[in-house]
Amino acid sequence: MALEIRKASVFYPAGRDHKVEALRYIDLTIEQGDFVVALGASGCGKSTLLSLIAGFMSPSFGQVQLDGTPVAGPGRDRAVVFQKHALMPWLNVIDNVAFGLKLQGMGKAERHEIARRHLALLGLQDFAASPVYNLSGGMQQRVGIARALACDPKILLMDEPLGALDALTRERAQELILKIWQETEKSVFLITHSVEEALFMGTKLIVMSPRPGRITHRFDLPFSRRFLAGETGREVKASPEFIAMRETVLKIIFADEAQAA
Ligand code: ADP
Ligand code: MG
Repeated sequence: MALEIRKASVFYPAGRDHKVEALRYIDLTIEQGDFVVALGASGCGKSTLLSLIAGFMSPSFGQVQLDGTPVAGPGRDRAVVFQKHALMPWLNVIDNVAFGLKLQGMGKAERHEIARRHLALLGLQDFAASPVYNLSGGMQQRVGIARALACDPKILLMDEPLGALDALTRERAQELILKIWQETEKSVFLITHSVEEALFMGTKLIVMSPRPGRITHRFDLPFSRRFLAGETGREVKASPEFIAMRETVLKIIFADEAQAA
């Protein structure tokens, strides 16, 4: 599996004779098992970049390819989790998770079997029959992730999936997503504007800056693998290497802000 973006630019129409350059010359490769995190202030084009990968839109210039084939639209090989969970309020938990499989025409027994497996992966096995509106925000977000994974995508795309959660729930969810990433060996593209979250979760970090949206810095990161090798999340985040990296990235972001102001 390889998703390749080459020299992609995106212009949005903005009023008469005017365009917003949301992305400029984006080059990015997501390979099998990568956990790529995009970090940047609001408006730097993160969601636009995710839309290109998801196939919700095409670049104005440049290319997006999955395994050598141009991405021409959304597809089963790419699943998206948004900040707002977008669950169906009239369906219970298991039918929400099985929803994509139903759209594919899969029979009830089989899709419920797959949904159950993914609920267990996210620690939700006891809530299969619950209406989704009874669940907490963190649990609803886990249902959204289970639903995305149930369709067995090659890449899981997440746009600030944990942004609405309180600090403790958010840390738990970060750790859970990393464990699932390890277990399923999926490729992940995750958007966040939390520096700590980006550093903790990614194997590859891209830092973006606005007007026009560009990738200004790239880093390879060791921290998620340290967590998965047995250190606690808190140990990793309090380690000198993590703190040094956090300062490096914060300096970049503040410098970009000062330049943009
Ligand atoms: P981010 O997710 O990093 O906050 P976005 O990708 O949503 O950034 O937006 C990047 C830029 O493109 C912003 O300046 C935003 O206002 C603009 N933009 C996004 N979507 C549209 C749209 N549909 N029409 C016009 N401009 C848009
Ligand atoms: Mg966004």
